[in-house]
Amino acid sequence: MRWSRYFLYTSKEDPADAEAPSHRLLLKAGFIKQVSAGIYEILPAGWRVLKKIENTVREEMDKSGAQELLLTVLNPAELWKETGRWDTYGSELFRLKDRNEREYCLGPTHEEEITDLVRKYVHSYRQLPLILYQIQVKFRDEKRPRFGLIRGREFLMKDAYSFDRDEESAKMSYESMKYTYERIFKKLNLETVTAQASVGQIGGSYSHEFIAFTEYGEARVGFCKECGYAANAEIIPLKQILHSAEKEKPIKKVPTPGVKTIEELSNFLGIPPEKIMKAVLYITNENKPLLVLIRGDREVDENKLEAVLGTDEFRLAQDDEVRHILKTEKGFIGIFNLPPHVEVLWDNSLYGVKNLVVALNEPDYHYINVNPGRDFTYGDFVDIAEVKAGDPCPQCSKPLEVKKGLEVGHIFLLGTRYSEPMRAYFTDSDGKEKAFVMGCYGIGISRIMAALVDQHHDEKGIKWPLSVAPFELEILCLNMSDEAIRKTAEALYKEALEKNIEVLFDDREETAGFKFADADLIGIPYRIVVGKKVKEGRVEIQERNTGNKQDIPISNAISYVLKLIGKEK
Ligand code: ATP
Ligand code: MG
Repeated sequence: MRWSRYFLYTSKEDPADAEAPSHRLLLKAGFIKQVSAGIYEILPAGWRVLKKIENTVREEMDKSGAQELLLTVLNPAELWKETGRWDTYGSELFRLKDRNEREYCLGPTHEEEITDLVRKYVHSYRQLPLILYQIQVKFRDEKRPRFGLIRGREFLMKDAYSFDRDEESAKMSYESMKYTYERIFKKLNLETVTAQASVGQIGGSYSHEFIAFTEYGEARVGFCKECGYAANAEIIPLKQILHSAEKEKPIKKVPTPGVKTIEELSNFLGIPPEKIMKAVLYITNENKPLLVLIRGDREVDENKLEAVLGTDEFRLAQDDEVRHILKTEKGFIGIFNLPPHVEVLWDNSLYGVKNLVVALNEPDYHYINVNPGRDFTYGDFVDIAEVKAGDPCPQCSKPLEVKKGLEVGHIFLLGTRYSEPMRAYFTDSDGKEKAFVMGCYGIGISRIMAALVDQHHDEKGIKWPLSVAPFELEILCLNMSDEAIRKTAEALYKEALEKNIEVLFDDREETAGFKFADADLIGIPYRIVVGKKVKEGRVEIQERNTGNKQDIPISNAISYVLKLIGKEK
């Protein structure tokens, strides 16, 4: 491809509001273009990358025995009503009506449609197991679309669904998908960890997430180098630990004027945060106050709180609500003199802590040396603290590491969550009618493109791994008006095409500096730089990833590139 003819327009400006490197670089390099919030066009160079990701996924899925099909984007509401999700899916679902007032949604996921399809054709255990998949655009009206392709409202997903006769066989399908996913990410050069995950709203019995380590991911993974345990931090249990048999000191009321945060209080009193009781007031869905108590050095994990409460309908209380309900200010919330309608949850971290600092529900004062049993009695203990690095591994008790990451794939063993309500039954070998035991398996194709950039870039631009690069080779002609240079570059371009190298030829009438900057930005792994050295019969080969440069005779250049890209005969 000649760049002078190519629909590829880079920009020198950093786009506004693009925090994640992938978002900034994909826009700047001209791979994507925003249409509206969370909605992007994929431009030709970006499309070449997406196709490669798609094909890697397809190849591995096919190898596993899964069969590709294409379901519809327009999903009839009736199917969603059968499983109840028409009412429960909430505002993420794009709903619309046709000219006859029939209701549809734009598919955000396809459990209903696939179950409907399979129940029409599969009636016997002999037709099982079965795994079907598609690569298709999905629509979700996300609350907070952001980070470019990472959280879009229209995005590409590979979704697969397995159908088995029983739980045991379903687990085998699940394991084969887990293995397939790990192979896919390895082939794509995306570093991921396979983490145990929460089944959440989708239901079912167990689930794993594939998390790519990136700074802009929303997931936190805890993992243990000792025993190999890895899980989404929101499901890692933190137990009660009995603290030392410290001597109880006499309780004392001390003035703490204007001291609001745990850090300020700790500095003011000279007492470490582990000895301070933090109290956070939430308002639940029925507009009820809920007081969450936790050790001062820990944070509430709202995903854990959601699991405890069984709903995500809760929020932090506003300042005026704290004043109205507890007659105090934020920073002075405690356990004393609580109105009876305030529900209280104790985090495990507070269990057995002696000589605590506790606020009074009275501005500008705290108690020190507050002790359980003597000064207060515990209520219900729950596990709602955010897991931190150094917390004990639930499997072997060694210290965990915690890293931020981005979920790029998610697999669930669904059981009969969809087949039962949709009456998707088959006849088993014993002649009995049974519901299919299902699994579902998603990979974010467009999100992977962003995750790859987040893992492979520097301050100048993208460094595509060869497996997904839009082109394998870029030829830079540094001076189009110098005949010898131009002719050499043209000849190398022709030779590269003949050898089936995917090549982009920068034949634009631009300066060398401009072309180098663009080459760094778009990140093609290998370059042939054609410049002044042509007079000595040489060109330069450059590697974007390592920065290595090497002069080479013109006549050897293409065969050397063939070696580098592994296409050597
Ligand atoms: P998240 O927690 O990030 O919202 P999810 O649990 O809703 O993800 P799934 O329904 O399991 O995601 O979808 C399968 C895969 O599709 C995810 O692992 C992710 O890679 C991708 N994906 C989900 N939502 C989006 C989105 N809004 N934009 C881009 N990719 C997405
Ligand atoms: Mg989601």
